[in-house]
Parts: sequence; structure tokens; C-alpha cells
Amino acid sequence: MREKNRNSIEKCIKRLPQFTTMNVIDGQAGLMSYSSLIFYSLTIDNILNIIVLLILAAVSIATLTGENGILTRAQDAKTDTEIAEEKEAIGIAYNGVMADNKGNGVSAGELQDELISNGYNVTASGSNPITVKFNDSQRVYTVDNNGNIEISDGNEDNDGTTLVEMFIAGESCENPDNCDNEEHLHVADYLKYTPSDSTASTADMEDNPLKSQYTGVEDTQTYTVNSNTKWQVIGLSEDRQHVLLTTESPIQRDGADPYLKLGGAESYIYCKKVLDGICSIYANDDLADEVRSITIEDITNVLGITIDKERNIAYKTADENETELPYQGFFGTDNQYLYKSTDYAPENYVIEQYNDTSYTRKATGSVANILSATRETIDQSAYMIPYTESSIVDSNSAIYDVLFSGTTEENNFAKSYWLASPGVGVGSDYAIFAPGSVYDGHAAAGGYYLFYSHGVRYAVSLAVRPVVSLKSEIKGSEIERDVASTSDIWDGKVPDLEGESLGRADAGQV
Ligand SMILES: [Zn+2]
Repeated sequence: MREKNRNSIEKCIKRLPQFTTMNVIDGQAGLMSYSSLIFYSLTIDNILNIIVLLILAAVSIATLTGENGILTRAQDAKTDTEIAEEKEAIGIAYNGVMADNKGNGVSAGELQDELISNGYNVTASGSNPITVKFNDSQRVYTVDNNGNIEISDGNEDNDGTTLVEMFIAGESCENPDNCDNEEHLHVADYLKYTPSDSTASTADMEDNPLKSQYTGVEDTQTYTVNSNTKWQVIGLSEDRQHVLLTTESPIQRDGADPYLKLGGAESYIYCKKVLDGICSIYANDDLADEVRSITIEDITNVLGITIDKERNIAYKTADENETELPYQGFFGTDNQYLYKSTDYAPENYVIEQYNDTSYTRKATGSVANILSATRETIDQSAYMIPYTESSIVDSNSAIYDVLFSGTTEENNFAKSYWLASPGVGVGSDYAIFAPGSVYDGHAAAGGYYLFYSHGVRYAVSLAVRPVVSLKSEIKGSEIERDVASTSDIWDGKVPDLEGESLGRADAGQV
């Protein structure tokens, strides 16, 4: 039996006096036998009897109804019992998570998961206090860092629905494309997110993420905030605690060429630093926990796809049968590459080129080691999902439009973009390294091949797409809605996808 349906002894005892009172009322015969009274002869005694019975009836009715009536009090008691049960459920879940965490605090996400697994339909958000809403009763509670549970004022909650709650309400919306419910937030809705520094530039950053050590190409690329940038909802974070936004289209590099060029071993080693660094110019510490580059995990999360790396399959997270989706992934020891003595690992390359000793050498590179057991291996980690397949995502859906419009051949791949998801591919005689990408129907970790273990290096250009993770406590009243742009500034743009050869690393000399 679930905790929810079980009454404590204390609650049963609380209920007993009411039932006792009800039985006494039922026992008052006068209420039930009015009709037979007319057959009585009207002696004085009988008249007195009737008067007494009528008075008793009036008193009984007054006792049943009215502000302090039994029925009203029974309803109040029922509500009190439900509140006590809900509080108890929160307390049990809170202590459960606290025990799992060995006393190291409880997050809203953990509390929510625990309550849901205990059979309650709840939404939890915020921190100290965490707000817990029971979606069936609509009652809201707060839990502070000491585990104190209070019922929260309902009025206060109506004024302050969080964006996360609004998104959850919008998930069951029947008409998300044309909905005027202000309490709903849907995929592709526009929000007026603004960075705190409207002139922020990568050029002003202490450790410029676009220097050639990190991009693998010349040192001339710069990104500056564009205040006209439009932001759209793509969904909730995996822990369902944050509304995630991305830009209506990718962001553009300063100057005529809007694309970011990345190449070589640097692109594999530093793509996360470069892409996250660029996107961080859109930071707003009041509204967002982080602004970073989009990743392959963001895409699989908002599409509701699970990548099972153990079994090397992909399936819809909601699909209990785990029906395999079209997908290419390469994991595990069967897909390892054994470095040859003449090889470059990307780590060796950056150590040698930039004296970056935060990496350790992989390919050991001396003849003696060819025969020794010290030669290192690298696991394959590249994978891709084909987003033009309808089983992956409906091409007429709002999320397809936000994430994938303009990335296929019919639009010259204009809006194809990088993912901060480096990956390794293993060929017959070499390993290949690259950042992730969304391009030509594939969302991939390690999508392009920009560095080969035999030393060949390439550079290509794709766009950059930020993700804003809004703070979980941000309310609908704190961020305005926005409207779509009227023109598409990516029309006619074509990224350099052919690739530019950067020449060979000095293979064999490691
Ligand atoms: Zn709606």
C-alpha cells in the first residue's frame, strides 16, 4: 500500500468524535417520523411533544449546517487531514533524499523525484525554501533548509507561477500554436531574455576563447552581443528544474562571415571552451544559471530520446518497449583504436604546439614502445541521430523548427551549427577527432573529422547556438513575452563545409 493511502492511528482517532455525534443525531426519532404525527390526537401533551420535536429538529439542522456546523467542520477536518498527509509525504521524501545524500542537503529535483516515485503528482522548484506543488489538490508547500514544511498562501502562488510550472501546464495544452493562456509556456514561445552586458565581446574576455590555440585557425574571430537576438523556449532541463532557451537562429560572428571556423586537434580538445566562451557573452546572472553552447545531450533531452551507451541503442525515453530508433553509435572496447608509434594523439599535438601541459601524452611514439604493452588506446565515442527521420522528430513540430530549420541542403545548410560535444571515430587505420555538429540531417557528437591520428588536419565553418538555462525560481511575471523576427538574416548564407586543409602535424616526430 502506498504511503498516501495509509492513515495513521492518530488521524483515525481524530475522526471518531464526529462519527459519534452523527450517530446521536440519527438517533433523534423526530426527524424521521414527521408524517406520522398528523395521526396523533392533539392533546396538550402531544402539542408540547410536537413543539419539543420541532425545536429539536431546528437545533439539529443548525448543528448540521452553518459556519460551525458538523458538515462544515467535517469538510474542514477532511482538508486538514489532506494537508497533514501531504506534509507527511513531503517529510518522508525529504528525509529519504537527505539519507541518500548522507545529510548533504536536498535539491528540488531530488525531492520531486522522490515524491513522484512515492506516488504523488507534484512539481518542486527553487531552493531554501523549495516550493512543492501537489498538482491534484493545487496546494503549495515550502520546505526550508532545515526541513521545516509550511503550507504556502495560495494567493501568493497565483501571482507567482514559475516558468517551469507554466511549461509543465503547457505540456498538456491542446492548442500550443495558438494558445492565449497566459499561464502556459510552450516549446518555441518567445521570451524577452536580455544579456546583462549589451556590449559584451569575446575580445574583452580575460582568456579570449577565440585565440588560435583554442580554435586551431587564425586569431581574427570575434563575437559581440547582438541586442536584437530573439530567444525561444526549447524545453526543460533534464532534471526539469530549468526552462531552456535558445536563439531563434544561431548567433553570428562579427563581420561579413557569420560562421565560426574550427580546425585540427585544437577543435577536439577545446571546442567546449570555445563554444561556451562565445555563448557566455549573453550571460545574465539575475535570470540564468548559465549560458553555454548547445550540446548533443540538449538535443536528445528535448526530443525525449535516450542514448543507451551500454547497449549502443537509442529509443524514445517514454517508450516502455524501448523500440530502437535509427541511430549510429560506436561505443565500447570493440571500437578501440590502438595508437601507432608514428601517431599523434590530439593531446600530444597541443602539448607540443602550445606547451599545454594540462594534458598527458597518449601515443608514446618510440620504436621500443611498439612492442611494449604501454601503447595506448582511445575508445570510439562518436554517435549521431538522423533528425530528418520522422521517428526521431516530426518535421512539422515546433521543436524541429527551432532546432533544425535551415540546416539541410534545401537551405544551403545555412544554419548548421557546432555542438560542444567532442567525439572520436575509429577508422580502419586511424582515429578521427572533432567537435559535434548539427548539419545535413545529423545531430552528432564528434560529427566532423578535423584531426586524424596520422596527423592530417582540417578546418570547417559552422554557426554557434547558445542555450540559456533560466533560474528555476524565475516567474512568468519577471520575463516578458516576445514575438518572432520578421526577416531571416541567414538567407543566402553558406558555411564552408568543404574544409580547408591545415596540413599535416609533424607525424612521426612525437
Ligand atoms: Zn497553451
